[in-house]
Amino acid sequence: MDARGGAVTRADLLEFRAGTYAIQLVDRNRGIRNPQVLASTLSIMSKPDSPYADEEVGDSLFSYAYREGPIDAGDNVKLRRSALTKLPLILLRWIKVGTEIRYLPVFPVYVVADDPANRRVLIALDESLRQVSDPQHLTETERRYVQRMTSQRLHQPQFRSRVLMAYGNRCAVCRLGRPQLLEAAHIIGDKKAHGIADIPNGLSLCSIHHAAYDRNMIGISPDYRVHIGPTLAEADNEGPILEFGFKGLNNVLLTLPDKKRFHPAGDRLAERFQEFLTGTTHAHPTAPGAIKPDFQRITPVTMGTDLGATVFEPPFTDSPATQSP
Ligand SMILES: [Zn+2]
Repeated sequence: MDARGGAVTRADLLEFRAGTYAIQLVDRNRGIRNPQVLASTLSIMSKPDSPYADEEVGDSLFSYAYREGPIDAGDNVKLRRSALTKLPLILLRWIKVGTEIRYLPVFPVYVVADDPANRRVLIALDESLRQVSDPQHLTETERRYVQRMTSQRLHQPQFRSRVLMAYGNRCAVCRLGRPQLLEAAHIIGDKKAHGIADIPNGLSLCSIHHAAYDRNMIGISPDYRVHIGPTLAEADNEGPILEFGFKGLNNVLLTLPDKKRFHPAGDRLAERFQEFLTGTTHAHPTAPGAIKPDFQRITPVTMGTDLGATVFEPPFTDSPATQSP
């Protein structure tokens, strides 16, 4: 699963093996898997905008609607029994990017309440959420905790999977194609109202380029070019990651998704690039604070002869911020 960027195919789920034991994790025709040998449900599929309206209910626990028909027959029997057996389930989040469909497994999750009056079960997306005092009436503290866990367990992995799928599992900056090492970066941080988790506000980046982008040590201009900030551009004698992984990538074009509608939004790149140019702190929880670039001190970077004696252009040559007063 890690090697696929978190989300798996339907075939992966149908042909899943634990050692030599085959376990079909999804039903061929239904969005719920109730194997004969199990007393309660094994997996539930959650599709945004589905007629079953399985969704996070505001700031409550995750709500999963009963199947159609009588509440004491068919798949509803084992689904409701999950609240009694307390056995873990797999929540499969349906993800579609272009024509590609993947499933993001969230595991283990637990049915913590059966709510026949509203034809639904309530689901704890994390072990710790099983401890809430009353799943139907959360306290304020519990509600805030649920929101945080829903973001960690559901929204962030979904965002990551969607962005990685759009970029074909490549780092947009260096083209590294190892999904295990790829993350989804926000262009506009999620603390801001317009920092939403959609593909045009995302970039598929390897861990090191993500960390550097979050700290405004590298920037990406609206013309999709990579800019290496002065702290990296001026550093020396730190080996191949610095030379090839940063300095060598100055001014290269991003590797973008095939589909234009998944390209990073120009206005968001522009807004974020200003943060990079002015050294404003990026409003993202993982960014500890921006490093203020000193643009007057930028000089052309000349690589050593052992690296091919390539001369790189100074960064920001087109930027007004680099012009001397
Ligand atoms: Zn990279």
